[in-house]
Amino acid sequence: GVRWGLIGASTIARQFMINAIRAQADGEVSAVMSSSQERAEAYARENGIPAAVSTLDALLSRDIDAVYISTTNELHLEQGLVAIKAGKHVLCEKPLALTSADAKQMVAAAKAAGIVFGTNHHLRNAGAHRAMREMIAAGRIGKPIAARVFHSVYLPENLQGWRITRPEAGGGVVLDITVHDADTLRFVLGDDPVEISAFTQSAGMAGGGLEDGAMCIWRFKSGVIAQSHEGFTTKFAGTGFEVHGSEGSLIATNVMTQKPVGSVLLRTASGEEELSFDREDLYTRSLSQFHAAIRAEGQPSATGEDGIWSLASAEAALQSSKTGKSVMIDPQL
Ligand code: NDP
Repeated sequence: GVRWGLIGASTIARQFMINAIRAQADGEVSAVMSSSQERAEAYARENGIPAAVSTLDALLSRDIDAVYISTTNELHLEQGLVAIKAGKHVLCEKPLALTSADAKQMVAAAKAAGIVFGTNHHLRNAGAHRAMREMIAAGRIGKPIAARVFHSVYLPENLQGWRITRPEAGGGVVLDITVHDADTLRFVLGDDPVEISAFTQSAGMAGGGLEDGAMCIWRFKSGVIAQSHEGFTTKFAGTGFEVHGSEGSLIATNVMTQKPVGSVLLRTASGEEELSFDREDLYTRSLSQFHAAIRAEGQPSATGEDGIWSLASAEAALQSSKTGKSVMIDPQL
């Protein structure tokens, strides 16, 4: 079995990841760590977790095989390095760190230690995105030409905290959502971005100089160009993901989400076809891939390198928005 220690008494663990661990035949949530013992205990009680601790040492000295890191972003690096040193497998939330250089340091440490390291980019696990990737790889839309990503949401009130107030915690919509769009574009297109140009805004929700909206233009190695829109402030926009090729278009609606929902349409000269796809829970699939990787049967659905790519892309977007120039994306992997 795989005994998990949760680093961070977070919303994402409560809403999705605890269930995803327990959905595995061999998964167990053994302990939770919060920076506050009181909050750790309350969280453990509410979620039926047997142990609650308030230091990393106390967590890592327990009988656990893997840790899931879902603290605020500035803490991932140090917590990740300590867990790796203790020989635990690490599934880390995105962004892996505040800079791609830091993320690289963590991923290199994981490799040297021989443990499994994954990035929790859930969208790769969505049946919709996997179906699109397969269609493109099979040549069903011909040569891919352009992609459009619609991923501007309304940040729920219960999450209107550090993301919109604390730059030092890695707040802002680019580190929060652009990283997902980078990863999903790479996954669906089977291509890597080389250059990005971005405008960001503060449309009234985020303070402290943080952005709560972004529009990015991307160029990929193959020559594909893409646009993406990320936001915290649009209540009614809906989400989507489109790829347009020489022989067809893939038009997915309501797929930039945490749930296995939405639809994917393939439009070609022969008409429109609604694709059917797997509706497995995204996070459950992420976990089962991770467990398989621990058994040396494959890789996590998003690796450490994937996490470095998405963070390098977000970093370039922020730099572009600051300088008013397009920026090359090169994670130097
Ligand atoms: P939360 O704000 O819920 O949790 C982050 C930290 O905030 C916790 O570790 C906790 O610290 C602290 N905290 C939470 N609630 C309280 C409270 N009531 N009072 C004081 N402190 C509190 O963050 P999210 O769950 O939204 O995000 C956590 C991480 O997961 C981020 O890195 C984010 O980017 C990522 N994420 C990824 C998603 C995905 O789909 N891949 C989706 C959502 C988030 P402590 O542990 O010390 O108690």
